[in-house]
Amino acid sequence: MSKKIIIAVDGHSSCGKSTLAKDISRSLGITYIDSGAMYRGVTLLALRNGLINNQQVNTEALLKQIRDCSMDFVSVDGKIHLYLNGEDVERDIRLIEVSDNVSYVARVPEIRQILVEWQQSMGKTKSVVMDGRDIGTVVFPHADVKFFVTATPEVRAQRRFLELESMGEKVWFEQVLDNITRRDSIDQDREASPLRQAEDAYVLDNSYLTREQQLEWALTIIKQKRPDFFI
Ligand code: C5P
Repeated sequence: MSKKIIIAVDGHSSCGKSTLAKDISRSLGITYIDSGAMYRGVTLLALRNGLINNQQVNTEALLKQIRDCSMDFVSVDGKIHLYLNGEDVERDIRLIEVSDNVSYVARVPEIRQILVEWQQSMGKTKSVVMDGRDIGTVVFPHADVKFFVTATPEVRAQRRFLELESMGEKVWFEQVLDNITRRDSIDQDREASPLRQAEDAYVLDNSYLTREQQLEWALTIIKQKRPDFFI
């Protein structure tokens, strides 16, 4: 039987969790799952169907849409894209309108319950590295290795700003900073699975680290925790 490993990467919005998780996935040859993309996908469903207005979610109707939808991660030109009902929505789920609404959708317990079940089933039979807010606390509380990533809000906003600019989106730095700090506070203060650091998580403040440095740091810890995986 091949060896299995589960790695959880949690942290604040736009802190580089997904970069770290993708780099770990590539280094170890295991599957990467972006749980935030799933919350974004559900938010896109809500927006397209008029099921969210002024931060109020029509939970009943949205739950039905979620149960009936298909969500898949598909590799496109070496990058993982989210497909919603057979459509590549990777670009749409990153737009600021989705970012502005996603935390209101993600705080609904019934919606979280469905997505958490899907996420858990993805790690049942294979090794995964999953990033999000509640991976080490709720989705995989027994993960082999847990990381909690953070960076200053300004550094995070600058990174996301450059990312959005490169996608051709017209945004202001202040708008991005405001979105990030607002999402942080909703994610941390919500009742259902709030963003918090698992007690056994390794904390990484990557404000002043390069991508290579953070990967090296993480791989050293993974090797210490699961030396057998590398034999
Ligand atoms: O990771 P990303 O910033 O794309 O996530 C978007 C939003 O989805 C977060 O701000 C949070 O509200 C929600 N989320 C969550 N739990 C996760 C992953 C994301 O609540 N595991």
